[in-house]
Amino acid sequence: MSKLTPMMQQYKEIKEEYKDAILFFRLGDFYEMFFDDALIASKILNIALTGRDCGLKERAPMCGVPYHSCQSYIAKLIENGYKVAICEQLEDPSKAKGIVKRDVVKVITPGTVTDENMLDDKRNNYLLSIFEGQDGFGIAYIDITTGEFYMSEIDDQNMQSKLIDEIAKIHPSEIISNQKFTENKKIVNFIKDIMDVYLTCYDEWAFEYHRAKKRLLDYLGVITLDGYGCSGKRKGISAAGALMEYVYQTQKSTLKHINGINFYSVEDYMMLDIATRLNLEITQTMRGKQKKGSLLWVLDKTNTSMGARMMRKWIEQPLLDIHNITMRLDGVEELKDNMIQRENLKDLLSNIYDIERLMGKISAGTVNAKDFIALKQSIAVLPDIKALLSSFDSELLKKYFDSLDTLEDIYKVIDEAIIDDPPNNITEGGIIKAGYNAEVDELRKAGKLGKEWIASLEKNEKQKTGIKTLKVGFNKVFGYYIEVTKSYYSLVPDYFIRKQTLANAERYVTPELKEMEFKILGAEEKVVKLEYDLFSDIRQRISKEIHRIKSVSEIIACIDCLFSFAQVADVNQYIKPELNNSSYIDIKGGRHPVVEKTIKNQLFVKNDTYLDSNNDRLCILTGPNMAGKSTYMRQVALITLLAQIGCFVPADKADLCITDRIFTRVGASDDLSSGQSTFMVEMIELANILNNATENSLVILDEIGRGTSTFDGLSIAWAAIEYISDKNRIGAKTLFATHYHELTELEGIIDGVKNYCISVKEEGEDIIFLRKIKRGGADKSFGIQVAKLAGLPQSVIKRAEEILNHLESKDINKNNIKDAIAVSVENNDAKDEQIDMYEYQYREIVDYIKNIDILDTTPLEAMNILNKLINKANNI
Ligand code: ADP
Ligand code: MG
Repeated sequence: MSKLTPMMQQYKEIKEEYKDAILFFRLGDFYEMFFDDALIASKILNIALTGRDCGLKERAPMCGVPYHSCQSYIAKLIENGYKVAICEQLEDPSKAKGIVKRDVVKVITPGTVTDENMLDDKRNNYLLSIFEGQDGFGIAYIDITTGEFYMSEIDDQNMQSKLIDEIAKIHPSEIISNQKFTENKKIVNFIKDIMDVYLTCYDEWAFEYHRAKKRLLDYLGVITLDGYGCSGKRKGISAAGALMEYVYQTQKSTLKHINGINFYSVEDYMMLDIATRLNLEITQTMRGKQKKGSLLWVLDKTNTSMGARMMRKWIEQPLLDIHNITMRLDGVEELKDNMIQRENLKDLLSNIYDIERLMGKISAGTVNAKDFIALKQSIAVLPDIKALLSSFDSELLKKYFDSLDTLEDIYKVIDEAIIDDPPNNITEGGIIKAGYNAEVDELRKAGKLGKEWIASLEKNEKQKTGIKTLKVGFNKVFGYYIEVTKSYYSLVPDYFIRKQTLANAERYVTPELKEMEFKILGAEEKVVKLEYDLFSDIRQRISKEIHRIKSVSEIIACIDCLFSFAQVADVNQYIKPELNNSSYIDIKGGRHPVVEKTIKNQLFVKNDTYLDSNNDRLCILTGPNMAGKSTYMRQVALITLLAQIGCFVPADKADLCITDRIFTRVGASDDLSSGQSTFMVEMIELANILNNATENSLVILDEIGRGTSTFDGLSIAWAAIEYISDKNRIGAKTLFATHYHELTELEGIIDGVKNYCISVKEEGEDIIFLRKIKRGGADKSFGIQVAKLAGLPQSVIKRAEEILNHLESKDINKNNIKDAIAVSVENNDAKDEQIDMYEYQYREIVDYIKNIDILDTTPLEAMNILNKLINKANNI
């Protein structure tokens, strides 16, 4: 029987422990992969698959990548959802007896990546651990690059959907869980199919409470968890302990910057389910999944990577506490009103590097001297930032002023020791400043003297021997040498010892030269080693201060976010919202923050909103397609959300109550999200709203019931309105856009329901979108006019009009409903329409002016333009 070779035996043993990873097995200058790993990797990495004798009859499939360029290969495997275990040679192969000792030194997984090239510096990279216990879930998540570590528990009503919402918020790149959790088909499918996240069922023992707790205490180096507010949170501790075990198993070391845990409750923040996050396009657009075109895109004017990551967190977690929100708003107001200070702050902040992730590098031991210079330059601006903060009066900015540590001592350590432009490599010297260490200076001096002696040697030997072309040189193999060209061979003295013969020259050494070389190289070797030791010592000293630097980076991140809000508020003319403890939303002249930016050369039409928990709970919004219904409803939701993250809002005035949750549901056929939009999904989401909304929630329903037959859809919409507006059931503030004009009959029948429509003006056979919201229901759909605008063939439009006339004359169903419920709906009064028309014409003029390209206009054209404008104005 054939037997594996000893090396392959070693491979098998190691692979056995890392079954779920691709094993990178170090062989000399390569990482080799074997068997199934090789089959998978060669395909993904597009590298040649070869074979290697392994002792068995068949050769082992094999492929490999050079060790010095392995990063890009690893990145590709991670991107494709694989883990990579790095197995190194633990001893010098030339000195090893028998098989070289090897073991895994690190496992790289999507959630534990630390390579900068694989990370987005504007967002966190979270690893999430979920433990399902008897009565609920414990969750814990961490970003190992920044050390942020959070824990929570979800164990009350609707915990499954709450967990899904939380996973959507965290948006981890990897999840580990206990066995029991993986049996939740619904959540697991959500994680795999919708979130597309790597889920590992991790070792059961790691979640066991006592072991998990011990793991956590050991990792954090504390004896109790009380200080973190998580004692007694058994489920959370199980999740967090397993998480730390996993981090330890992948990193193979304890990371110092992970030095605390934040316990939070999901109820501390406004809850947003995944559908709402997607529909409101908070951090990415629905269609392209891009930041551009999202709310984050408008708001993120931060100057630092920490700030950008914090901004995302703020947007994803709107606050509920009026005091906390007001603190942010006051801070934003002060910065907004002080343009000059704000500009100064911007300049200062833009000098600050990603010192938060730098802490991660310090504790992982991958930091280099350049990083420390970046840290020093960042620290250098802290005193100026502190001085700037001292001029502010708002509570939050004052608090930041008080707690901002300017880290002078750390600055000093770096400034004294490390030269300003050090090399990337920390093992080749050239890092330590002159004057920092006497021995370094001494050795450098010796080296320098030696080199001077060698330089003078050339001159001396030239004179002595009369060889005009004599040269002293150096190469790595022979060291220093004296080179003599062919024509002077006869003048070579006998104390030259021949070392090497070239085509046209000979190279020699002398005993003196060798002696000096020994001194120089000895000094160089010593100084390099000494510099490395000194660098390690500095790293050690700074790593003791990690918690201080972390707290600075958090304050900087928050200041940067306030700056960004102030900047956006100033540039886009946002106003400070007022917050009320009652239960109404009153917005005057509200705008959609993203749409107003994307319709560049047109004016956005402002609209008012009033909703409360009494007579104006539910607004039924009608109007033709393209009128602006969806935009209007989202703008109300976004203004609410903006206020609760502490940002100013796009409106003339806003007086808002605190909203506990925002729900949005977009009807199936209106749903842009790819592929998922079935009627079933729509109904599941409607069920979620009906089951979870409270009277303090804001519900946006956009064309629900569209995905089925008219009567089904109408009936469902009708019943849903009854249910949501019923104070004994929900009584939430609701905006309901519908093309079922029949629903306008509900005003006057159901308490709290009011009709609104978005006005359009008929001009002959065309329509003009006035985009102004007003009381009353729309009585026409204008579908055919919209179709005409879209460029349908004239004959189709004509025929459609014929059919419509015919149908309308026979519309018995609609009349039946009208007969059954006799109500009076307020009609749009003509005066209002007149005003809207004025506004429209005014806007037309402004849009026209905005679109003029003055550099591309001849004087004659300018006259024509002016003439056109005068005509337009005369028409108003
Ligand atoms: P609906 O939902 O009624 O079909 P949308 O809300 O999708 O209409 O709006 C259609 C388009 O009209 C938007 O993409 C936007 O370009 C424009 N629009 C909507 N509201 C406004 C507004 N208030 N001011 C200017 N343009 C608007
Ligand atoms: Mg719409």
